[in-house]
Amino acid sequence: MGDGRHIAVVGAGISGLAAAHRLRRAGHRVELIDRESQPGGRCGVGLLGDRPIMAGGRLIGRKYTALREFLHEVGPFALEPYPLRMSRIVAGELFTIDHQDRPTGLRHLIEAGTPAPDVAKFSYLASRALTADGLLEPGYYTKLAAHSDHKPLSEHFGPALTAILLRPMTVWTHGAEPEEVYLGAFGATLANVLDDFDRLTDGIQPVFEALSRQFVVRTRATADRLLVRSGRVRGLAIAENGSAPREELFDAVLLATPAPAAADLVIDEFPTVGKLLAQIRYLPAAVAVVAYDREIFPPDVWGITFDDGPCRAVGPESPSRRDTVRYIFTGRDARPLPSAKTFESWLARSERTVIEHCAATGAIRRDRVTRTWDAAYCAYLPDHGDFTAKLRHEIASCTGLAVAGDYLLGTSLEACFRAGTAAAEDLLNRLA
Ligand SMILES: Cc1cc2nc3c(=O)[nH]c(=O)nc-3n(C[C@H](O)[C@H](O)[C@H](O)COP(=O)(O)OP(=O)(O)OC[C@H]3O[C@@H](n4cnc5c(N)ncnc54)[C@H](O)[C@@H]3O)c2cc1C
Repeated sequence: MGDGRHIAVVGAGISGLAAAHRLRRAGHRVELIDRESQPGGRCGVGLLGDRPIMAGGRLIGRKYTALREFLHEVGPFALEPYPLRMSRIVAGELFTIDHQDRPTGLRHLIEAGTPAPDVAKFSYLASRALTADGLLEPGYYTKLAAHSDHKPLSEHFGPALTAILLRPMTVWTHGAEPEEVYLGAFGATLANVLDDFDRLTDGIQPVFEALSRQFVVRTRATADRLLVRSGRVRGLAIAENGSAPREELFDAVLLATPAPAAADLVIDEFPTVGKLLAQIRYLPAAVAVVAYDREIFPPDVWGITFDDGPCRAVGPESPSRRDTVRYIFTGRDARPLPSAKTFESWLARSERTVIEHCAATGAIRRDRVTRTWDAAYCAYLPDHGDFTAKLRHEIASCTGLAVAGDYLLGTSLEACFRAGTAAAEDLLNRLA
């Protein structure tokens, strides 16, 4: 351990991991604290039988440069390509749009009755997103937000393009309907959807194992409140293993949780920051990862998106495990989170559809894992850049406090990783 300051990072997801790693590298003593029984947050680490899986965030885009550099430095860890070619069911048949094959995609849109001005507008926006890095940072889209975010994405396009393109994208990447997304933040979504992806062959668990040798990772430890003396953060009250909260002193605290959890922790001591964070809404998701006794997906099918119903996307767990299917239940038809019985009936219905369309009749379930998140995806505010600027301004005057999370630069693992690193750097500058 370094002999620097003693710093608590609350939240052992990818944002907290990045922050803890950066602070540790600067020579500080770091404790990474999480209320769950294992680190990983919305990466959703778990076991399917004896196989490690990630039920949540797991695909790593080619544009995820900071995360990739980190994985190389701490590992290296093996990555395998995960082609993201989603199919739709059109007139009872699977129709696949390869995002690299833009002419076919455009033809499909036009044949489905999408007006030419909508196709042109969308193509232009996509071309701007293609050259961007997929982060909610000042640029073309944040400028666009100032005069476009008074109405949601769905009102910028007609119903055909909204149904065929926008809804699958927003629901799949954000659990949000196009009526709940704004153009200013949509550039980051588009850049990510148009990326190419890999997955960690052995999941993210080995990454956490490597890092737990660098700093203390405390699980089943819930941060209950901030300790603030004379306007300066002095520590945290932490409830460990279900016991009553105990006060622990730290030189600084970095909150790397979803915005509502951070709001609860700061609201009494820093009400302006708390109120800002409390504005951010999150949307739920439920995921089932099911292993079958045979391969379900034929070699040319990489995933299916559904136009309606609670299950919006399914795909194979990995290129080599086409016998294992991930079902994602999200969007308006999947709210509120289902009871166990409802979840079972959603799963059974989706399973029948997938098995029928993939011609895998007779497939039998062997194992399964389910995960639900009340706060799965951050729903960005209209003109979200305005919110982040205000938040950064307020945080600057909270001595000994920094914040990171998906509500700053975006939901992707890269955006969270960068938000964690940036929050750590901000704290280091202010502690210096
Ligand atoms: C189903 C799903 C699929 C996704 N797929 C992808 C993908 O393929 N690629 C991609 O780039 N992104 C994906 N994402 C998005 C990405 O996974 C998330 O945005 C990212 O993991 C969030 O990381 P985080 O560290 O900011 O938050 P989290 O992972 O939520 O971590 C926050 C942690 O804080 C802890 N915590 C909260 N409050 C407290 C408290 N009071 N005390 C102690 N601990 C606390 C929580 O237990 C949690 O572990 C997906 C998201 C979901 C839900």
